[in-house]
Amino acid sequence: METKTAADLKLANWIGGRLVPTTGSSPVRCFNPANGELLNEYSDATESDVAAAVANAENAYKSTWNEWTPGQRSDALFTLAALVDGCKQELAAIETLSTGKPLASEVLAAEMPLIVDQLRFFASSARDNQGLRSGEYTTGKTSIYRREPLGVVALITPWNYPLMMAAWKIGAALAAGCSAVIKPAPTTPFTTLRLAQLCVDAGIPPGVVNVVIGTGGPGRLLVKDERIRGGSFTGSTRTGAEIMRNAADRICRVHLELGGKAAAIVMPSADLEKAASSLAFGAVVNSGQDCVALTRLYVHRDVFDQFAELLTQKTAEFVVGDPMDSTSALGPLVSDEHRHQVQQALEGAVRRGARIHYQQRIDRTNAAGYYFPPTIVTGLQNTDELARREVFGPVLMLADFADESEALTLANGTEYGLAASVWTRDVGQAMRITRRLEAGTVWVNDYLTFVAEYPHGGVKQSGFGSDLSRDALREFTVAKHVVIAHD
Ligand code: NDP
Repeated sequence: METKTAADLKLANWIGGRLVPTTGSSPVRCFNPANGELLNEYSDATESDVAAAVANAENAYKSTWNEWTPGQRSDALFTLAALVDGCKQELAAIETLSTGKPLASEVLAAEMPLIVDQLRFFASSARDNQGLRSGEYTTGKTSIYRREPLGVVALITPWNYPLMMAAWKIGAALAAGCSAVIKPAPTTPFTTLRLAQLCVDAGIPPGVVNVVIGTGGPGRLLVKDERIRGGSFTGSTRTGAEIMRNAADRICRVHLELGGKAAAIVMPSADLEKAASSLAFGAVVNSGQDCVALTRLYVHRDVFDQFAELLTQKTAEFVVGDPMDSTSALGPLVSDEHRHQVQQALEGAVRRGARIHYQQRIDRTNAAGYYFPPTIVTGLQNTDELARREVFGPVLMLADFADESEALTLANGTEYGLAASVWTRDVGQAMRITRRLEAGTVWVNDYLTFVAEYPHGGVKQSGFGSDLSRDALREFTVAKHVVIAHD
């Protein structure tokens, strides 16, 4: 299939290995965040569309995927990784058009190599997904521990990393031996549909991966479908809670990767230059639309002024502009509505006493796009809404602390627990703080490093369970104890 842009890509469900027109009547429109132009529109998937997708997934699971050997599944996933690599220019261009992420610096340089690597990791882990224990725990009987695929799973993904989230969830689910119906975010379905097509090109049987598109109905219908045996969701805490409630009605397992309010602690012994550089980027990554983006930065009083100056300098260096321009480090926010919400969150904080320590000027030639300037805010209490709620924009709160204990209280003073970072040259201090930070990932003298081999997940209201690593496969499998009596 020759697909060059999001506008060229026909928007329909992907069921049983082919595009199937949606049968709904409510229109969904997708805009280019860089200029506000309409990219494409489609109508919602309906109940019968979702039922057809689940039926195809169930049939493909029973007739093919669950019958294949781990080696066969692994080979197909390796082929998928190679095809994604081969199509990276096309996929990246589509992703940029619909999300506004900078094409060169973000999607091509940062995301595509990770996505290919993550798919390769899942391809290799498909061959090593069995329980390893067996033995005679009762005289005359052998116990075998098996890990078996759940069956058909629902994968519900957000708009901030459409392709990467689809790759994480499809990669882990398929490696575990499951088939899937994926529901991408309504405004960014393009690369997910393309990835589903590449799955078939890679030799993954039609029906193993299905896509239903739309808003409001399809995700909810999937979670309620009796044939769905497990789910994985990335998105807001509010929606995660609703999914969990709906899944609970029929005792269906779900994995939830939800919001974040990441904090960093900078101690006086830290390499301040390196910390400022890394943390400034951590705050603006994907224009702050990242659940691990840095939102709260706590700096020891003794170095606060020096650090604030360095941070401001580094933040000022990021070019905000057209995502197709290779010099842009930040593109627009995903939608005008979201830009409005970020602006409102900032204005509310200012009304409550926050000071704008730094805000970049935005080039007026980009006025039609949904751009938002990198902003650093000071003078806020840790109890302020801006310090507690997810803003999902390039707005960073900067505050000081007196000692290690206060730093930990401030950093942990949130209902979220996804990621955190500590900067110090004192190894003992790093280990003490690391142990006490309530977060699924803690970086020491670092920010944003992810590896496919290690899990990504949260605690508290950031959810539970894991994306990435072998732990992600466990989200899609169940243990079975087989007992064989010898005679
Ligand atoms: P949501 O969490 O509300 O939606 C994410 C996805 O879930 C969409 O595909 C949505 O589709 C679907 N969905 C919503 N309700 C249900 C349901 N009951 N059952 C099944 N699927 C459902 O996020 P938003 O896009 O509205 O963003 C709101 C905020 O969430 C952001 O500002 C940000 O703070 C946070 N967020 C966090 C992300 C993360 O990485 N953890 C990613 C994206 C957002 P639809 O409702 O159209 O059917």
